Amino acid sequence: MKPERAYDELRRFQLETAYYESLGALAAWDQRTYIPRKGHAHRARQFAALAQLLHRRRTDPRIGEWLDALEGSPLVADPESPAAVNVREWRRDYERAVRVPEKLAVALAEAKSEGESAWESLRAKNNWTAFKPYLKRLLDLQREYAEAVGYETEPYDALLEDYEPGERAERLTRLFDELGAATRRLLEGILGSSVRPPTEVLHRDFPVATQREVVHEVTAALGYNLEGGRIDPTAHPFELSVGPGDVRITTRYYPDYFNAAFFGSVHEAGHAMYEQGLPAEHWGSPMGQAVSMGVHESQSRLWENMVGRSLGFWRRFYPLVQARFAALAGVPLEDFHLAVNAVKPSLIRVEADEVTYNLHILIRFELELALFRGELEVDDLPGAWNEKYRAYLGVTPPDYKDGVMQDVHWGSGLFGYFPTYTLGNVYAAQLFARAEAELGPQEPAFERGEFAPLLEWMRKKIHAHGRRYPPRRLVEEATGEPPTAIYLIHYLEDRFGALYDL
Ligand code: ZN
Repeated sequence: MKPERAYDELRRFQLETAYYESLGALAAWDQRTYIPRKGHAHRARQFAALAQLLHRRRTDPRIGEWLDALEGSPLVADPESPAAVNVREWRRDYERAVRVPEKLAVALAEAKSEGESAWESLRAKNNWTAFKPYLKRLLDLQREYAEAVGYETEPYDALLEDYEPGERAERLTRLFDELGAATRRLLEGILGSSVRPPTEVLHRDFPVATQREVVHEVTAALGYNLEGGRIDPTAHPFELSVGPGDVRITTRYYPDYFNAAFFGSVHEAGHAMYEQGLPAEHWGSPMGQAVSMGVHESQSRLWENMVGRSLGFWRRFYPLVQARFAALAGVPLEDFHLAVNAVKPSLIRVEADEVTYNLHILIRFELELALFRGELEVDDLPGAWNEKYRAYLGVTPPDYKDGVMQDVHWGSGLFGYFPTYTLGNVYAAQLFARAEAELGPQEPAFERGEFAPLLEWMRKKIHAHGRRYPPRRLVEEATGEPPTAIYLIHYLEDRFGALYDL
């Protein structure tokens, strides 16, 4: 077969797969927002049918034949051309898919969905004993999965590869060591400071209808195109792409707490702006896809924290917010800004501030790694969890619910996912530093309401490339050096050193 014809047929085949996937995405959005309570059983059957169809398509032997016809052809001679990138990534996806026996794929899918349901009901009851067998089963299956897809030095790397291609446990260990030590030094200073953020101002009366207006206005001002998106209420906030022109986010409103909906929306809008910035003409192929979870998280964290918690940002938006909420009358900008940046060691990851957040991730990473290296048994997990919380954060979970059972990830079989949150913070700080070096200091721009230059910079350096480079290389191309924790450390020291008079 001629390479041109092979490429056309493969592209068409993969595009069709992408349409099926995006119908699944739409069904998932509906399931997490407005589905009637009685609709869940039917939806689960729809997903099962779709999963089978997708598995067959992803492992279709014709993909291997098309790829073979393309290997070494002039079409893929330039490794950075869209065709070559697509062929390289399609091969990677195909080879990983066919290495997993169908029996294991089905068992994993079932165990994940059962584990997630079990987690939901058992976490509410604080029942670790009943949850434990699900976790053991998922660990066994994920170990089997790691052996099936393969790895160079250790099984955990095979799992990382699904979320952050090219990342390795060994390198992450060094990154967390460096970041963890710097974070604990900074945290010690903050805890010894006499500055007390007036966080009470964030727990006043914030009517939900007004919050809705504010998050729509602010995310639009940052660059989230709402003509190609929407913001709906949900229990667990997320961003979801249906396709070009349809990139949605959700948020959670509390009538007596400001931060959740506001910063949650800005965070998800950051994810959405990445999706909206991917080249639409390449939709349905790797060139039109986000490259990794870590890079995705870098975009959400950048807008949530580097932008959304900066003083320049609040100089711009505080007058608007203050005018809308009577509860903030008389609260000075400086107090409000300090409150939204308050640092306090806590038990719950999703409520953590910017400084302590990475310690929550470090704990999970160390535990996952120990589990996969056979140095820790599931039975000993709660004890190890509590010990690390005491050591790193100085807090002790009073129960399983707010301790080892707090996240959905492990119940859903997502091992190797947590580190991408911290990689997101690392990449975000490095990208932001480089953007400021090229564009000039951004806070004065934020104060003038100018967010487009920063977004354009991200569009050009990150979004436009899809999966052209692996994540580490992408960050290196954008910033001139490989990913390093040093920018995040400096950023945290600068921002919180100033806020806490250190
Ligand atoms: Zn996120």
